[in-house]
Amino acid sequence: MPSLARVYLETYGCQMNIADSQTVTAILRRAGYTTTNNASEADIILLNTCAIREHAEERVLGRLSDLARLKHAHPNRKLGLLGCMAQHNRAALMNKAPWLDVVAGPDSYRRLPELLANADFDPAVDVRLDRTETYADVSPEHDNGVRAYVTVMRGCDKFCAFCVVPYVRGRERSIPAADILREVQQLAARGVKEIVLLGQTVNAYHDEQVGFGELLKMVAAVGGIERIRFTSPHPSDMTPDVVEAMAREPKVQPYLHLPLQSGSDRILTAMGRGYTTDEYLRLVERLRSAIPDLALSTDIIVGFHGEDEQDFAATLGLIRTVGYDSAFMFKYSLREHTRAFRLGDTVSEVEKSRRLAEVISMQEAISLERNRNWVGRDVMVLVEGRARRGEGMMAGKTPQFKTALVPAAPTIKLGDIVPAQVVSATGHSLVCTLP
Ligand code: SAM
Ligand code: SF4
Repeated sequence: MPSLARVYLETYGCQMNIADSQTVTAILRRAGYTTTNNASEADIILLNTCAIREHAEERVLGRLSDLARLKHAHPNRKLGLLGCMAQHNRAALMNKAPWLDVVAGPDSYRRLPELLANADFDPAVDVRLDRTETYADVSPEHDNGVRAYVTVMRGCDKFCAFCVVPYVRGRERSIPAADILREVQQLAARGVKEIVLLGQTVNAYHDEQVGFGELLKMVAAVGGIERIRFTSPHPSDMTPDVVEAMAREPKVQPYLHLPLQSGSDRILTAMGRGYTTDEYLRLVERLRSAIPDLALSTDIIVGFHGEDEQDFAATLGLIRTVGYDSAFMFKYSLREHTRAFRLGDTVSEVEKSRRLAEVISMQEAISLERNRNWVGRDVMVLVEGRARRGEGMMAGKTPQFKTALVPAAPTIKLGDIVPAQVVSATGHSLVCTLP
């Protein structure tokens, strides 16, 4: 492949994948490649994929068939598949998309330039998991927003029965605190105002003596950074030091994504989540009494193996009791390699859809109610860009990670944190005026 070959990279899935794509871009640029936003003018087309649910894989397979046409038009053009899907089911993938030139799992990105160079005749495949790879020395190519995502740990050791993550991303490993701080300092120097620390179980972070609570305090000490968030914490790792850092350190924002999955103890045990509903509710109580105005969001799975009407009703009940500000809700998707795979499905697709619609409709009503409670109150909005809807408005986030719309004014720049008053609310945003 000539140097200055142009790479087009498309990303699917979670925030971790977006961050991984920034690492991939940095590795390829370092090796002399350039990037393009246009697939039809690229020499190399890469898809960074997600395997968390079957639907995510189907979308990528559909996209791969489209891209095969671009490859046939220019046979020298290389097509590569990266990330969790590459790791999850390589053999089936090569059957379904035999025109792929490169297949690389999440721990193989360092070798991508070599794989691309070797993919002239046979596909180049590397899906080895590496217990030590953290890419700590690679500075990702962040975009120019006011918020930047910084990976602090990779992989997961929890092995929840439904989840493919530990199999496709490998075991848990943390990035040394010194490397994280270096990256945060560089981002602050570029004008980034908000840092989101990332990891599949981000609060399981540990680097020798530094636990996650301590890491939050270290990041908060970096000048120029105004706000700190993190995702996704696991409820079992929400230790007192993390709660204390959230309560005491003003830069750590009063917002927490705390995945519940199910409100039934029977199902939580079958899922192997490691907490009971009672423990979860006590944690929520501790968090709310330590952190005023804390906003909570969650992940819910409906239709897991064995979930009956009573279990589902318990999930609805718990969602109502907690009163989440927002939630990501999913139908259970059977995933090969996971512990629950051999148990199969017991809830029909139609029934899963019914439960999903019910839980979404209930959560929408709760989100609206939670947002309406903000009407009349003052908020500080970190301004991020022009509002997608709403003429003459700018969009930003409140400390609770709620989208806030404020009137555009010549004095307001991106990255400013401005005082505003909430005048109305929908389930998705707060409309504000300026004082
Ligand atoms: N580590 C996080 C945690 O423990 O909650 C979540 C990471 S996972 C990428 C994001 C969410 O996807 C999970 O919280 C879960 O709700 C959902 N998920 C994972 N496996 C799933 C499956 N097989 N079917 C449906 N949803 C799934
Ligand atoms: Fe998956 Fe459970 Fe790990 Fe979250 S904690 S990534 S749900 S195995």
